[in-house]
Amino acid sequence: MEHSVKIRLRFTPADTERPFVHLLATRFGLVFSILQADISPDKGGRMVLDLTGEEKAIEDALQFTIDQGVDVRILSRVVRWDDKVCVHCGSCTAVCRTRALQLDPETAMLSFDNARCVVCEMCVKACPTGALKVELSP
Ligand code: SF4
Ligand code: SF4
Repeated sequence: MEHSVKIRLRFTPADTERPFVHLLATRFGLVFSILQADISPDKGGRMVLDLTGEEKAIEDALQFTIDQGVDVRILSRVVRWDDKVCVHCGSCTAVCRTRALQLDPETAMLSFDNARCVVCEMCVKACPTGALKVELSP
């Protein structure tokens, strides 16, 4: 079964001389997309990758990354609610099956309980103001 994981790699200047991402793909048979990259040979930098492949291959690739001394962190997706942009219309509550988003029956104000959120992203599509966004978080 195919799995997908987003990771953040931090490279030293010496790391940039190695074809590291290419190695991850060829050695472990992973498909990757570069989501973000900010690297220069003299300073090193960071890269955010989406890796897709067999679960064991992803685990092996992560272990390989650690063994190579490259700083790696697995990123998870989280929903962020911007209460300054929210107009408390309640559209998002209609699609939130976990009740992470609820309107207070007395004040008619929205509340967001991150612990209940399963990041299905239904609310992001339903929100007319862009108050709900998915972000990557360590
Ligand atoms: S992502 Fe899904 S579970 Fe999370 S708040 Fe939005 S609708 Fe609810
Ligand atoms: S849909 Fe958007 S604007 Fe409306 S209550 Fe939800 S977060 Fe706020």
